[in-house]
Amino acid sequence: MKTPGSGFKLISTVLNLFFPQNCIYCSRERNGGGEYLCCDCFSDIGFIQDPMCFVCGVPADISYDLPGVEFSCGVCRQSPYQFDRARSLGHYDTVLRQLIHHFKYRKQLGVLSDIDGLLEKYFSGCGDDYMGFTVSPVPLHFNKMRERGFDQAFLLARQVADVLHAPLESALLRRVTATSAQATKTKFERAQNIKGAFEVNRPDAVEGKKVLLVDDVFTTGETANEAAKILKKAGAQKVYVFTLGRVVVGKGQDSL
Ligand SMILES: [Zn+2]
Ligand SMILES: [Zn+2]
Repeated sequence: MKTPGSGFKLISTVLNLFFPQNCIYCSRERNGGGEYLCCDCFSDIGFIQDPMCFVCGVPADISYDLPGVEFSCGVCRQSPYQFDRARSLGHYDTVLRQLIHHFKYRKQLGVLSDIDGLLEKYFSGCGDDYMGFTVSPVPLHFNKMRERGFDQAFLLARQVADVLHAPLESALLRRVTATSAQATKTKFERAQNIKGAFEVNRPDAVEGKKVLLVDDVFTTGETANEAAKILKKAGAQKVYVFTLGRVVVGKGQDSL
């Protein structure tokens, strides 16, 4: 037989599912911090900082890289990306990974308020790096959007534009092919899979523009690379990429 205590526990579990009182990462009481994370977990999200590749933003591996002022990684030297620069807020692991999962797969859009706090903090340290840029999401295919119910890259791009006080162009590109999941593919397979997936919607809105493409996670960079290629072909002056999370070899692999 149920005790009053277990009934209460059930209600609080259900409530916690929709309006979490406890931290979504460590399950302790939030006690300040964000809407979904406690103070400790919030401050555990470390930003990716120098030394990193000045093009793709991968953190330098000091065991074999020799980071200089403008250090570029092996991948960028061997097969340069079409974008001019990519940066990610933090590593796609532990707390940040959990936050992105709650947002993307569990559809808890309230997590965006915590993400907003992170974006404010991150971009306040970027000076004028994004001055004059138009913010645009890496587009999701319509089928995917219907399946998921929302477009995570658009929601993030809108927040980034807000934080940077930059214009938002939600449809510079459109996704014309529904690509299969990238998660288990190699860098080469990802490049093949994404080839031809984008088209420019309005060439007049791209010509001469500096575009900041926004997405949730950077894995091998092939999706951003293909989008940048199409934007550059249409006359974009510069293409920068920003993602919340960055997969670095050996860390969480289940992304884009
Ligand atoms: Zn916590
Ligand atoms: Zn690089």
